[in-house]
Amino acid sequence: MKYQLAILGGGPAGYTAAEKASKAGMDVVLFEQNALGGTCLNVGCIPTKTLLYSAKQYYNATHADKYGVKAENVTFDYAKIVQRKQKVVRKLVAGIKQKLNNEHCTVVTGSAAVVSRTDEAVVMTCNGEQYEAENLLICTGSVNFVPPIPGVKDNPAVWDSTDALAATQLPQSMIIVGGGVIGMEFATLYHELGVPVTVIEAMPTILPNLDQEVVSILRDKYTKAGIKILTATKVMSLDGNKVCAETAEGEKLELEAEHVLISVGRRANMAGLEALSDLECNRGIVVDDFMHTNLANVYAAGDVTGKIMLAHVASRQAEVAVGRMLKEMPVQRIAYNAIPSVVYTNPEIASVGITEQEADCEVRKIPMTFSGRFVAENEGETGLVKVLVDKKNQTVLGVHMIGNPCSEFVAAASFAVRMGYTVPEFMQVVFPHPTVSEVLREAVI
Ligand code: NAD
Repeated sequence: MKYQLAILGGGPAGYTAAEKASKAGMDVVLFEQNALGGTCLNVGCIPTKTLLYSAKQYYNATHADKYGVKAENVTFDYAKIVQRKQKVVRKLVAGIKQKLNNEHCTVVTGSAAVVSRTDEAVVMTCNGEQYEAENLLICTGSVNFVPPIPGVKDNPAVWDSTDALAATQLPQSMIIVGGGVIGMEFATLYHELGVPVTVIEAMPTILPNLDQEVVSILRDKYTKAGIKILTATKVMSLDGNKVCAETAEGEKLELEAEHVLISVGRRANMAGLEALSDLECNRGIVVDDFMHTNLANVYAAGDVTGKIMLAHVASRQAEVAVGRMLKEMPVQRIAYNAIPSVVYTNPEIASVGITEQEADCEVRKIPMTFSGRFVAENEGETGLVKVLVDKKNQTVLGVHMIGNPCSEFVAAASFAVRMGYTVPEFMQVVFPHPTVSEVLREAVI
């Protein structure tokens, strides 16, 4: 049988594309070598957030005093926390499987590879069988980047994020190399569960791509709480669980912890694509606005494109790719200027659009304490919401926030940026009271 579409990879890009294409009547085969759901569901977003939720419960219980609640001798069982994480993952993976079943999409479990391609057909192999399809959508995702630092490779003290999520025991102490999103989320997890944490970041700041005023609030809080954060510091080598680092001033440091988590970024996963020798790649597979590669019947979506490595970007890219194959009208594109992002630290950071560092804008900002609900629920916290407005036409161009639960209402800010709302237009939106989301409206007044 010749399929209309073969999808390589069953993460957020792959399963979203499979569902949409099958629903539209295409014959689809999807190959996945591990579990459906990809990195996000199995070893990324979902398991991390589940562990972080348990850590937050424990942290809140041990800090309940400030709300007039006494909780004595609070303990946790890490093995149980990990078991629950597995349960959550299983449930969500089963949900994806069910959805694809309902749409009669053929799912093949196994490691697939492209054998050959012409403009008429792509031939794939998996588990010794051959499959032919008119179109190929590559959704192979990304893999943890292993930096060429002496002593990292084959070192049992070294973990990547997948090892950290799989561990059933907490480390006694942890050094985290890389103060990006993964690094700061794991720093939060371990710190809230009482593990001494040191973060080593090569750049002058942690979370270097985010609004730096917002980041400095997190850094101050974490430093006061006892997380050791070393910025402008490069890891030079590892010897077992000892880390040799050097500051920008040339000072040499020796640090030690039970485990060293390496979180210095991820790279496009090109495995299985070797036969596509003409495929244009840069930091990932090069695609146009419609996720079309330079090959007539080959599309790509998700982390493998090396664009923005976020699950919600992957699924939107997949929708656009399938829309293009179906010649859907009106033609859809991705609004890369309005992609929200969240860092699940405590407090959370959420942002969308341009940063102050990127453009000369009018900045309107207020502390989160302008919201009554925030004050009621965040004793001792201040938070910040910052709205960037175009100086000429008053369009909302970016929003940057720190304070719980800003991840839950950043979508309203994305909507404003996506639709190009001006301040007077945004002011016509009514926010429910009392919610923390009201700060968005307060900030733009
Ligand atoms: P990242 O790019 O966010 O951060 C890596 C950090 O490591 C950077 O700050 C970099 O300066 C630093 N670094 C690089 N080499 C170093 C070295 N030798 N020594 C010290 N520091 C070094 O990458 P990540 O945190 O690994 O995350 C990978 C991807 O997964 C990202 O694209 C991220 O957006 C995504 N992700 C998103 C979420 C979320 O949306 N909440 C959560 C986890 C991961």
